[in-house]
This record gives sequence, structure tokens and C-alpha cells, in this order.
Amino acid sequence: MLDFNFFVPTRLVHGEGCVQKNSQYFEGMGRRAFIVTGPNSAKLSGALDDVTTVLADKGIEYEQFSEVEVNPSLDNVEVASASARRFKPDFIVAIGGGSPLDAAKAVAVLVANDMAAAQLYDKNWPNQPLPILAIPTTAGTGSEVTPYSVLTIPEKETKQGFGGPDLFPKVSFLDWRYTDSLPRGITIDTAVDALSHLVEGYLSTRANSASDMLAMHGIRLWGRHRKALMHDDLTPEERDGFLVASALGGMTISHTGTTFVHALGYPLTYYHDIPHGQANGLVIGGYLRFTERTAPDKVENIIRWLDMDSLGEFAGMMDQLFLGHKTIDHAELERYAQAASETRNVANSLGDVTASVLADILKASVG
Ligand code: NAP
Ligand code: FE
Repeated sequence: MLDFNFFVPTRLVHGEGCVQKNSQYFEGMGRRAFIVTGPNSAKLSGALDDVTTVLADKGIEYEQFSEVEVNPSLDNVEVASASARRFKPDFIVAIGGGSPLDAAKAVAVLVANDMAAAQLYDKNWPNQPLPILAIPTTAGTGSEVTPYSVLTIPEKETKQGFGGPDLFPKVSFLDWRYTDSLPRGITIDTAVDALSHLVEGYLSTRANSASDMLAMHGIRLWGRHRKALMHDDLTPEERDGFLVASALGGMTISHTGTTFVHALGYPLTYYHDIPHGQANGLVIGGYLRFTERTAPDKVENIIRWLDMDSLGEFAGMMDQLFLGHKTIDHAELERYAQAASETRNVANSLGDVTASVLADILKASVG
């Protein structure tokens, strides 16, 4: 068994109405809050109104930056940071899916340090980032409990993550009601991202007893609710199940990292605008088939925890969820496979992962 050093310093508050019921956590953060969101979801989900009510009650001044793009770029976080520097906040409130949450982490570093966004990857910021309170409105990335931020780098034509132990949000609030406005497609894409973190974390070369415990429970919870993804209306219990599974996935990958599923997904998103979770979902079946050769027992556990009979059933579910997805030229897929084979995610993956293995998986899924 691997030695481990388990560290998730985020206070995770869960339950309906948890922002209002736990508003004391906004106190002590300071007098000025900078709210980081996308254009619509914060308002639409009801989370923004709950937050601004609490801030007004506590006499905390705030300003909102609502222009975080989906898959935020370095330029996008530079613009957000410039507004934040002018406002001089004491803390950051991040509301939204993974995009605003990740952008907020970049802003938290950049506002406290005189550096450009591209330098975030040097992982060397002299001053502590501002504290972050995070409120997810998707049930997918788990960014509310990870020390990671994934940004788009146009010069490198891909997405890349950076992180640091001081980037875990201080407090995160999980209220299923904020995910109830999600349209069906985004519910599916993000739920599959959560599953992907749980599965990749369990199969990571860095998995340990503590991360396995989180992954196992998360996969079971996901499996209990998986049939809900086949219809339109999710019940509160189902929404809550995916939200908690997503946070468990975030805690899992905080320790294990992700595997080549994510490395293959990034170019599909960068070049073809395939949403992040869907990109993972398209390759995860091939990944499990490949990993089964090295770790048949572990793959069998996943299938059993999902309450499925076979890997075929798993692949069939992904096919059904992503029916009519894009297909991509083989020469292009070979380029993506080569680039993915050079990422650190490959070292987290079980088996002998070569560029040609990755190309075969891509061709079988989106070729
Ligand atoms: P997202 O990119 O944050 O949002 C996708 C879309 O969903 C946006 O149009 C957003 O609207 C909308 N939306 C969000 N919540 C909604 C709600 N409650 N109701 C209606 N619409 C809503 O999606 P995501 O999948 O959560 O995040 C993806 C990003 O996270 C990617 O950049 C990915 O690489 C990253 N990621 C990070 C980690 C990590 O550990 N940090 C892990 C996995 C993935 P708005 O634009 O108005 O917000
Ligand atoms: Fe992800």
C-alpha cells in the first residue's frame, strides 16, 4: 500500500439553504468581497441572490465580475484580476461551474501578487492567495474541494492545470438547489466529469486507502442515481446525490490527480468545443477496457459499485448519453495522442500507455 498524507483543508458545508444557515463563515473573511461568476448561471441558479443577501446583511461591500468564459483563458483571468486589483478585496466568492471556480483561484493568486497569468504555472507566488469561498452550480468538477485550476492557454493550443495547497477554497457550500436550473445536456456532461474523477482517482497510480474510500463511496452514490440521467427532471435527492458525488470526486483527485482520460479530453475541448465532461465520457470506456488488462479486479469493482453487469453496459450508457457526438479526422487524433502521451497524467495511469495506445482509444471513440 502507498503511504499517504491526506489533506483537504476546505470546510465543506452541505444542505438545502446552507449559505444562509452558515452565513457566519462570511464573517472574519474581511470587509470587501470580490464575486467571480459566469454571465448567467450565478443569477439563474439563485446562488448569487443568496450570497448578496448575506453580504448586505453583514455590511460586507462587494463587486461582481461576471464575465468568466466557459473554459477560461489566461487573458480572461487577467481581465478579472485587473478589476479585482482596482477593487482591493479581502476575499473572493466564486459562484458557478468549474470555469468560474477555477478562474477565481487564478484571481486569488494574481490579486495578491504582482505577476502575469502565464506565471501561475511556475507555482511560485510569494504572497498567499486571497481566501476563497466557493459555491458550485454544476455537479461535476469538484473544484470547490480541489487545489487545482484549469485554464486555456491559446499559445500552447490546449488547457493546462496549475495548483497549490493554498488554493483549496476555505469554505464551500453544497446546495443542490443551485444545480436545479441546469439544462439536461450540462447535467449529463458535468455528472460524467464527476464520475470520471472518481474512476480515474480510483485507478490512479497515486491512489491510496484514503482516496479509495472517497472514490468508492462516490462511485456508489453516482451508480445509485445514474438512471436519472436518462430522463429530464431530476429529483432533489438525485441532484443532491450528484453534487455530493462530485465533491467526493474532487477530494479524490486532490490526492491522486487525473489520468490520461483528462489529457485526451483537453484537445477535444480546445479544438472541437466538446464540453469537458463529455470529452471525458467519450474516452472513458476505452480507458476502462485498456486498464482492465492491468487491473481487472479494480475495474470489476467499479462496475459492481455502479450496479452494472459489465463493461459493455458501461460503454452502452456512455454511447446513449452522448449519442450524435462529433467525429474527428484520424490524423488529427494522432496528434492529440502524441501530445497527451507527453503529459504527467500518463504517469498517473496504469499500464504501458504509449502514444499509439492513446491514438487507438481516440479513434475507437471519436474517429
Ligand atoms: P462551466 O464551464 O463552468 O459551465 C458550463 C455552462 O453551464 C456555462 O454556460 C454556465 O453558465 C452553465 N451553468 C453553470 N451552472 C448552471 C446552472 N446552475 N444553471 C444553468 N446553467 C449553468 O462547466 P463545468 O463543467 O462545471 O466546468 C468546466 C471547467 O472546469 C473546465 O474548464 C474544466 O477543465 C474545469 N475542471 C476543473 C477541475 C478542477 O479540479 N479545478 C476539474 C475538472 C474540470 P455561465 O457561463 O453563465 O456560468
Ligand atoms: Fe474534470
